[in-house]
Amino acid sequence: MKRTGFFLMFAAVAFLAGTLLATQPATAKITFVTIGTGGVTGVYYPTGGAISKMVNKKRKQYGIRATVESTGGSVVNVNGVMSGDLDFGIVQSDRQYQAWHGLAEWKNRGPQKDLRAICSIHPESITLVAAVDSGIKTIQDLKGKRVNIGNPGSGQRQNSIDALTNAGINWEKDIIAEQVKAAEAPGLLQDGRIDAFFYTVGHPSGAIKEATAGRRKVRFVPITEMGALLKKNPYYARAVVPIKFYPGAENKQDVPTFGVKATFVTSIKVPDKVVYAITKELFDNLEEFKKLHPAYGVLTRENMLEGLSAPFHPGALKYFKEVGLVK
Ligand code: GLU
Repeated sequence: MKRTGFFLMFAAVAFLAGTLLATQPATAKITFVTIGTGGVTGVYYPTGGAISKMVNKKRKQYGIRATVESTGGSVVNVNGVMSGDLDFGIVQSDRQYQAWHGLAEWKNRGPQKDLRAICSIHPESITLVAAVDSGIKTIQDLKGKRVNIGNPGSGQRQNSIDALTNAGINWEKDIIAEQVKAAEAPGLLQDGRIDAFFYTVGHPSGAIKEATAGRRKVRFVPITEMGALLKKNPYYARAVVPIKFYPGAENKQDVPTFGVKATFVTSIKVPDKVVYAITKELFDNLEEFKKLHPAYGVLTRENMLEGLSAPFHPGALKYFKEVGLVK
């Protein structure tokens, strides 16, 4: 008896809820999109957060709800966007070039023809962090040491290999290469389980702060003599690690190295109106966006259209033409 009463009440509530839902206006339909980023102590993750915050603020207008996913990095993001598991991704400019041309991780799969560019974001530098007590002062000193080059799926793994190869170091034979995520490297360094690590990242980043603020003293190792490297790879340029963000490091001056740009990508399969809305929010509110992270300080509407290899997504292009950034 009791049970039947409960069931009847449940049925009545369900019926009412159903009626209410059915009378909701059609405009309440929300498009959910996911942005692939990187480790939570990198800059991609807060960048994804900053972009989604801007779009979600206008949820009523656009009907878009963006969420951020922490991932293994650039290569994972390209592949996620290509498979449809992700709608957007933040990807190093060198990785965008390689994916578009079918190089490096995409050698077997060929050019990723559905990849589309929206814009570039902050600069990233190939950052080599070493424990002072390991005696590593130059890249040559990495020989025989335990070094994290980055997880498969990250952007930095190939940058580490390129830097080592350029210095005449065979990463498979001359060093003990670890391949863990960048977010784990500072802890391993502080615990004495690795001597150094590479991370391609914007500055300041939580991971580098963590590595330079521990009890084990660390230094940034300069990467110089890059003539051949820059000549061979059009996407690399000279860059520095700005020391002002890391007072705990041994270095007192900006550290020379090479760098790339973080870029924002999507797939041709993502609807124009979704990409248009996100592009518009980001560019219309660029000054506000730039306040969200020191790494964005150098951004201008013009330089955010540089460093891209895949064609613009039509939704982004529509906006750029509207505001005269593209003729
Ligand atoms: N550049 C790194 C990668 O592509 C991610 C850096 C970050 O998360 O800020 O894997």
